[in-house]
Amino acid sequence: MDIMYKSTRGSKETVTASQAILKGLADDGGLYVPDTIPELPVALDELSDMDYKQTAYIIMKEFLSDYTQEELKGCIDAAYDSKFDIEDITRIKKCGHAYYMELFHGATIAFKDMALSILPHLLTCAAKKNDIHNKIIILTATSGDTGKAALAGFADVGGTGIIVFYPKDGVSPIQEKQMLTQRGNNTYVVGIKGNFDDAQTGVKKMFGNGELVKRMKEKGYQFSSANSINIGRLVPQIVYYVYAYGRLLKSDAIKSGDAVNYVVPTGNFGNILAAYYAKKMGIPVGKLICASNENKVLYDFFRTGTYDRNRDFILTSSPSMDILISSNLERLIYMISGYNGDKTSEYMKALSEKGIYSIDDDMRRNLSDFLGGYASEKDMSECIKHVYDDTGYVMDTHTAVAAVVYENYRKQTGDDAPSVIASTASPYKFARSVMCAIDASYDKMSDFELIDELCRVSGVDIPDAITDIKTAPILHDRVCAKEDMQNVVEDILGL
Ligand SMILES: *Cc1c(COP(=O)(O)O)cnc(C)c1O
Repeated sequence: MDIMYKSTRGSKETVTASQAILKGLADDGGLYVPDTIPELPVALDELSDMDYKQTAYIIMKEFLSDYTQEELKGCIDAAYDSKFDIEDITRIKKCGHAYYMELFHGATIAFKDMALSILPHLLTCAAKKNDIHNKIIILTATSGDTGKAALAGFADVGGTGIIVFYPKDGVSPIQEKQMLTQRGNNTYVVGIKGNFDDAQTGVKKMFGNGELVKRMKEKGYQFSSANSINIGRLVPQIVYYVYAYGRLLKSDAIKSGDAVNYVVPTGNFGNILAAYYAKKMGIPVGKLICASNENKVLYDFFRTGTYDRNRDFILTSSPSMDILISSNLERLIYMISGYNGDKTSEYMKALSEKGIYSIDDDMRRNLSDFLGGYASEKDMSECIKHVYDDTGYVMDTHTAVAAVVYENYRKQTGDDAPSVIASTASPYKFARSVMCAIDASYDKMSDFELIDELCRVSGVDIPDAITDIKTAPILHDRVCAKEDMQNVVEDILGL
């Protein structure tokens, strides 16, 4: 039976998976959600013998049920190839009590590659299936990592163009350089004077601007989104939570049916939502532990049932989690309300008008799968150091936020079930923060000296993504006020 997609905001519109991927956002401003969560199509035991691509296929075919076997396998083969620097695509390392699932072995060394290396293929395939001949313009707001991963994924993909907005002063120097050196005739990178939420709000406004959309159509363009609101991002992310379970089985760390915890450093709530979907499919998950940095809106939400974005936006050294409006939470709200679009719609209206909403007690009871925690800058930094001192393993700042939250959870609850920490970026991407956590005197060094030093202390080879930007020329220099984002898009597209 085909899985169909509906909006979280209650409109009657029902679309296929490929249509949902093409559109990104529903017409009523809601996010597309599958009308049911399919069951895992194999027995748990069987997972231990499946490689990444096989796992990807059995999961994705359930959700993207209007793609043919041939189409889906084609997308998977094109995505998970030598762009990844390990054959397994992701690997799990045990350090101390935790299992680190390294999701950063793709082209841009952050976990966004796991989904963004396949999204362009799912999207161009969807266009063909639906007889779309417009050029698809990917409009994306990024807190740093999505931008580069999306640019890399879409660069020179026929029939597409990509425009990325990022907060000019809100990303790491390496993240910025990665984006500004992006090649490809169809790629545009724009810094905005504002933070990530401003960028995301500006992009959402353009999607919802009927007049703009109409003028685009006249010129043969249509928007789509590479942000994690696109279901084509979410579905490929479910795969590694299922795959991780298979790896743990294979290594005898668990027996079939044993529960594992997943600890996820969270910003827009996409990655951890994928883990929730894996649980709903039948992967035995104990707790889903949602780790925030000092922008701890989600921690407060899980503790109190009130989501309140009215607070100062804090720039931390885990910038990809510096987010006060976690878009994908809307999908969880919809699910825990019993798939109630009207109710979800009201909460989202309150969020956009007042910046705050509180869910009712019934919904709070449905949140018991989750637990929130957060890490201060100081705790995060000390964690990088002590894990390095104790085990020699060097992790990035985002992963360290999750590691702190996990250590606290373990201490407070005594739960020593196997726990998998989603390791979302290579330490090379945040070399300055990481190295200064290990020894403050490293701050004197230049960025590239730090990279060499990181290589020396960690014993991990410098990834190509870093070597490449050393010499690559800067190819983008647009900067605009947050109010001018639409003007820039019109200028780029010649509207
Ligand atoms: C995007 C990102 C996150 C947050 O993921 P969400 O899906 O937005 O919750 C965490 N760490 C890194 C390194 C990221 O790039």
